[in-house]
Amino acid sequence: MDTQTVTILEGTSCTWFGSPNQAGENPDRECICPFCAGPVVARDRTAFQKRITDFEAGTYEWPISNLQPDPNWEPVPHPNFSKMYAWAATQNRCFKHFMHMVNAFKKYTGETLDVTP
Ligand SMILES: [Zn+2]
Repeated sequence: MDTQTVTILEGTSCTWFGSPNQAGENPDRECICPFCAGPVVARDRTAFQKRITDFEAGTYEWPISNLQPDPNWEPVPHPNFSKMYAWAATQNRCFKHFMHMVNAFKKYTGETLDVTP
């Protein structure tokens, strides 16, 4: 199995994602974010992509909640979500927070992304 095609690394303290051959390495030869040297976790590439397309399409599910009153957590579509990730993959940097990525996407592309759940 070619792990380069089935694995994607995702930053746990930043928004970076990429193939293992795009990652940096710390002195212990562990993969790290190539920009901020933050930790990364390996994900199944298909599941990672599905998470993005499901959120964009509004076909994701929220965990069961016992909050009262019950919040309106009906999934809604999020146009431009996959476009933002495609844009982020071309940027020579990571973002420290998801909303920094959303705001930069708007600033540099003029595209908006409503992330209201
Ligand atoms: Zn990073």
